[in-house]
Amino acid sequence: MTYRDEPNLQKSSPQQGTAATESQPELAAFWKQVSERMRADIGEAAWRSWIRPLHIRAIEAGELQLSTDNRLTRERVNAGYIDRLRIHAHSLRADIERIDVVLANNPQREPPPRFTENAPAVTGTRPAHGLDPRLTFANFVVGKPNELAFAAARRVAESDSTVYNPLFLYGGVGLGKTHLMHAIAWEMRARYPQRKIAYLSAETFMYRFVNALRHQDMMSFKEQFRSVDMLMIDDVQFIADKESTQEEFFHTFNALVEDGRQVVLSADKSPTDLLGMEERLRSRLGWGLVADIHPANYEVRLGILQSRADNCGVAVPDKVLEFLAHQITTNIRELEGAFTRIVAGANLFGREITVESARETLSDLLRAANRSVSIEDIQKRVASHFSIRTADMFSARRARQISRPRQIAMYLAKNLTASSYPEIGRQFGGRDHTTIMHAVRTIEDLMTRDSHLADDVQLLRSLLADGPA
Ligand code: ADP
Ligand code: MG
Repeated sequence: MTYRDEPNLQKSSPQQGTAATESQPELAAFWKQVSERMRADIGEAAWRSWIRPLHIRAIEAGELQLSTDNRLTRERVNAGYIDRLRIHAHSLRADIERIDVVLANNPQREPPPRFTENAPAVTGTRPAHGLDPRLTFANFVVGKPNELAFAAARRVAESDSTVYNPLFLYGGVGLGKTHLMHAIAWEMRARYPQRKIAYLSAETFMYRFVNALRHQDMMSFKEQFRSVDMLMIDDVQFIADKESTQEEFFHTFNALVEDGRQVVLSADKSPTDLLGMEERLRSRLGWGLVADIHPANYEVRLGILQSRADNCGVAVPDKVLEFLAHQITTNIRELEGAFTRIVAGANLFGREITVESARETLSDLLRAANRSVSIEDIQKRVASHFSIRTADMFSARRARQISRPRQIAMYLAKNLTASSYPEIGRQFGGRDHTTIMHAVRTIEDLMTRDSHLADDVQLLRSLLADGPA
């Protein structure tokens, strides 16, 4: 992959307060060191997929900025590798406190409007944190699974007073939470240009907070956030177990709500299920409107593919879109990843896109989805992968080193076979269907936070797709 820098970001990137101005070769040498450490740490396969495609852009004010032109890479790195990257980078250079992975825009695209003008205190020195021009209401495909969240988001964006406060959007990975948040910000910005809007992830909130503490700069930290008209914090589950950040967030939140400013939050769970979040905060988060986003159904998946196809510059037959919408049911991010691969194949090799060529390009993904794996195969394969006895798949032993693999096997059974929860329960030593549901949810949740576990599951999936143990 070649590195395409984003010219407009470079031009407008303010240099104030930055310490380092390394030359490009120096930066590249440093990144090579970090990258090698990552390789040793996370293993060759994960490194090739997610770290090697990254490019170093700058080191600025304690922040190592990396870039990629692939959205999927960025998401995956943010979800699974950012902490390890930070640790290695920091151990090589103590002044690096944060990592930011930015999407290097496609050069043909319109330069993204600056999000920073209206919220200089919050986003002014971080142009990389602007809004994604693609994530608008117009580009959001609405269907049963997301219509409530969509309507609520529109309402908040259009209203000239605070309607639901806070608006709390929740749902699983890749279902459109971040998309809706950006869309709210774009819309509000267009209607009420004078309003100050701050959008940031809960993780960024935490780093700013920690930095403010370290530099004894709490006054300006508080001032920043309390001077906005709308505060949007994405992925608040991130601070669920971070006590003092949560405390500070609670104060900020209360100050804004009491003052009639709009707050919009997203998380992977509903407020009541945000374990680790303090009770008073949890109940407060549910005071406004809580809207959940369900996994996309066939119509929404097809709609999203159609709109992608309209904008991708190559002809993708409807049959291929239908095929994809049928086959890839996990989440939208994966669906988009599959679509991108197909279009990239067509662009690179000048090949016509057909159902057959799509099937070939995505053979690894589809093999896993289509091959008829039995629950027994799964149990054997998972047991041998974790070096436990197959019998432990049916046993009542609860030690973590046994129960976690067992949960992974249950998760795979649900994902790779057509068996129902009660059926899977029977095959796992007569367990209740709620146990299986819990296991599936637990693994889904862990996969978003624990990259090693996510890789194990991914590996097992592909092993199972290749044939029985
Ligand atoms: P989340 O924040 O919930 O993990 P994102 O908002 O990042 O998910 O969505 C993942 C990808 O799927 C994004 O590229 C987003 O634009 C796309 N997407 C999700 N839902 C929709 C939708 N209903 N219509 C169009 N695109 C969608
Ligand atoms: Mg998100």
